[in-house]
Amino acid sequence: MKRKTALITGGAGFIGSHLCDRLINEGLRVICLDNLITGSVANIESLAKARNFRFIEHNVSKYISIKEKLDFVLHFASPASPEDYLKFPIQTLKVGSLGTHNSLGLAKDKKAVFILASTSEVYGDPLVHPQPESYWGNVNPIGVRGCYDESKRFAEAITMAYHRVHRMDTRIIRIFNTYGPRMRINDGRVIPNFMYQVLKGRPLTVYGRGRQTRSFCYISDLVEGIFGLMKARVNVPVNLGNPNEFSIMELARFVIRLTGTNSKIIFKPLPQDDPRQRQPDIRLARRMLGWSPKVQLKEGLELTVDWFRNHS
Ligand code: UDP
Repeated sequence: MKRKTALITGGAGFIGSHLCDRLINEGLRVICLDNLITGSVANIESLAKARNFRFIEHNVSKYISIKEKLDFVLHFASPASPEDYLKFPIQTLKVGSLGTHNSLGLAKDKKAVFILASTSEVYGDPLVHPQPESYWGNVNPIGVRGCYDESKRFAEAITMAYHRVHRMDTRIIRIFNTYGPRMRINDGRVIPNFMYQVLKGRPLTVYGRGRQTRSFCYISDLVEGIFGLMKARVNVPVNLGNPNEFSIMELARFVIRLTGTNSKIIFKPLPQDDPRQRQPDIRLARRMLGWSPKVQLKEGLELTVDWFRNHS
């Protein structure tokens, strides 16, 4: 991997910036592209002086021109929090469609491996549980989450078309709920919201009755899986996530207990099309990459709350 060059779209975002760190540490050259719509230069501040790192402020939905040779193009740009993609539905659709097309075109031109950050949202409100990669999903195309779900589904479709037609080496990662340092405290997702609320002594907002479930993966585990997939020639979609499943009510109680606060729990309406259950089937990642998550929720939340304490 040493001396290879990777371009990461969305490299100043939560996952993208951790990936930049990891690839720099592995000895790669990294070009980070971001239009900073939801990402932040603070996330890549520590890399600014690294000799092998370059940041370009650019919207990947517009044509990308890069002079250097590239070995990897990792397309991680997209709003990813439901609140963000509700705020930016058109940008979300564009980055998943035009942005994926541009990134694929760049990878093809450079004969680079293309890696798509897809999502568990391609499964929608799943009727199969846990979700294996073979499940086609249950998505409402015209609902408020459709902008994200369908743009990622399109992104997967065009990636497979480039793989089949142009014989490109492509990878698709279906990322399940991931958390950790560098999430925006106000990004609206459940873990930053609960962290903010406990740190401010406010009540925790549980949507609906809190019976819906999610399975939370700590960022370092995810990055390990992504790095594993960069090295493995697996062209079919691969789920990456932590299969430990919790209801949102359990998560709220857990966060209160862990932080030793006396915040109350209040209930807010369940957002439209909020998936009722989500748990990755990671047998494929285990078999093909020898990967499985290591960080349990308790440890991951402790690291995250410490980070939020110092950064909010
Ligand atoms: N949620 C909640 N309270 C909050 C934020 C989110 O109960 O303050 C719920 C949300 O309705 C969903 C789950 O937590 O069922 C996870 O939401 P998130 O926005 O983190 O991501 P999603 O998995 O829905 O993309």
